[in-house]
Amino acid sequence: MKILKNRGMHLISKKIHIIIDPTTISSANDADLVLISHAHIDHIKNVEKINPLKILSRPTFDLLSSNLKKNCKITNFKIIEPYNSPKDEINIQGCKISAFHAGHCLGSFQFRIKLNNKIILYTGDFCLESRFGMNKAPLLKCNNGIFITDDTYFSQEYVFPTRKTLYPKILSWFKETLEKNEEIIIIAQRLGVQQEITALLNYSTLNCSLFTHPSIYKANEIHSSYLPLGKFQYKRHPLEKKRQNKTLTSYFNSKNRNGNNKKYNSKSVILLPYYYVRKIRELEEKYNRNSIMIATGWAKTQNFRVKSFPLSSHAGYDQILDYQKYSRAQKTFFF
Ligand SMILES: [Zn+2]
Repeated sequence: MKILKNRGMHLISKKIHIIIDPTTISSANDADLVLISHAHIDHIKNVEKINPLKILSRPTFDLLSSNLKKNCKITNFKIIEPYNSPKDEINIQGCKISAFHAGHCLGSFQFRIKLNNKIILYTGDFCLESRFGMNKAPLLKCNNGIFITDDTYFSQEYVFPTRKTLYPKILSWFKETLEKNEEIIIIAQRLGVQQEITALLNYSTLNCSLFTHPSIYKANEIHSSYLPLGKFQYKRHPLEKKRQNKTLTSYFNSKNRNGNNKKYNSKSVILLPYYYVRKIRELEEKYNRNSIMIATGWAKTQNFRVKSFPLSSHAGYDQILDYQKYSRAQKTFFF
């Protein structure tokens, strides 16, 4: 069997050619079978144009479908359920595939593949710590098999503090900042970290209204159909409204998405996707710099212009090493 990293992870045997998380249409269409670990764009692109059979979780299917243009849909797919017993295993051309939660974002899976009497364990992006809105990934073994894992933070400086330490620090920052400001801006990955923040704030005792960027609103809605996150509102063009010298709270008080005149008396927390990191200066012109926060693992090493916390949906260096050791793999690959 050949294992190859080329715009996705290829497992090539005489029986079957599998690609996991293809990032181009052509690399996917070269294979017999496509496994999709989760809905992030660096793991799957143009899913509607991929021909071979695709295996993915139901929430990942929902998330990917919600991003497609009208009249586009995912065809030739099979939903895989998390493994409970051998009946959950999918058998294709003598290759047995089972899925396990990865704890990274809604619908994220690890795959255990039994092929040619070998176990190949593909962790996908994973997190070994339970957090608001998400359960942790279970550790799996691949005895003398092959371990394929995430190296996003595979460097010694990326050992993250536990949630037990981080959550109280984040909540006390929120409390202090809400006392001094009407609006707080939070920048984080739209799928994964922002659902954790939505649930963390909703289950805290802080009195604030949550407004979400359209892309986060969509992810939150799908997440909530599987696991409750609490309340959140749709936010359309925050920077545009701010340019007209209106605060978001007054904007939403005057008109919400349904045109109702619902009142929001509490202060506002606005959740924006990670690419707003590149718009920090623009945000600073309209919002108090001290009211902007970034939640990401990169906070361990990057000097952001605003407050940041190393809240990550990925495993840190120590977790990757622990898992690799636990797996008892003969060989390790990074995707
Ligand atoms: Zn990811």
